[in-house]
Amino acid sequence: MKKDRFILMSFDVEEFDLPLEYNHSIGLSEQLEVGKAGLDITAALIQDFKIPCTLFTTANFAIHYPESIAEMASHHEIASHTYFHNSFKEADLLLSKQKLEEITGTVVSGLRMPRMQPVDMKAVKAAGYDYDASVNPTLIPGRYNNFHLPRTFYKEEGVIRLPASVTPNARIPLFWLAFKNFPYLLFKKLAIQTIRHDGYLCLYFHPWEFTDISSYQLPGYIKNNCSIRLQNILRKLIEDLQKEGEFLTIRDYLQNCPV
Ligand SMILES: [Zn+2]
Repeated sequence: MKKDRFILMSFDVEEFDLPLEYNHSIGLSEQLEVGKAGLDITAALIQDFKIPCTLFTTANFAIHYPESIAEMASHHEIASHTYFHNSFKEADLLLSKQKLEEITGTVVSGLRMPRMQPVDMKAVKAAGYDYDASVNPTLIPGRYNNFHLPRTFYKEEGVIRLPASVTPNARIPLFWLAFKNFPYLLFKKLAIQTIRHDGYLCLYFHPWEFTDISSYQLPGYIKNNCSIRLQNILRKLIEDLQKEGEFLTIRDYLQNCPV
């Protein structure tokens, strides 16, 4: 194992509210159940490999499953995915941090906004966060264009910003939709190219992706690869990346890197 390269694998632990984006109703209890089923699958999978990961968790989710989140905090980093997944006000930055710290008994130092929404770094700093992982530094048609932003970590208003990994030149995103939709060998090749170039790889997924979401009315590129099939691809990815570097929580990685 090469100890000078690091894999920062993260999961956005949340209410499964995605059907609402496509104008299909889903109640909060079902959103939470799908999210929890995904968390249980994810927890078992990353426990099999004994890899530390970062779980960006909404306070709302953690309030409903406090024991699970506290248990995860003993092996992984719990960071904030704000308070609610489908609504945001700036006060939620601090409120979600406080609630997650109360539930886990650990310091919450990181933030990722739902859907990578823009957020004011002064407000993030004021709420006491050390880092923000809410940037995908590429063009996602219909969502955002962050092609002009730094590709690797940088500082803004006293907060470290850790973008999701994209490939060095073309900035092909290595986010969850690429993982699901690219042929595995292509994704693996791009991921290895990126970690060898940057020295680290910042990946993110959602636990609900690893449940069976095939019956929901969602676009095929979101739901076609899910459940056990996707779990097996993630296992393969972890095995392949373990040959390239060491898995670390984002907090532990940033504590030792020169930003
Ligand atoms: Zn999310």
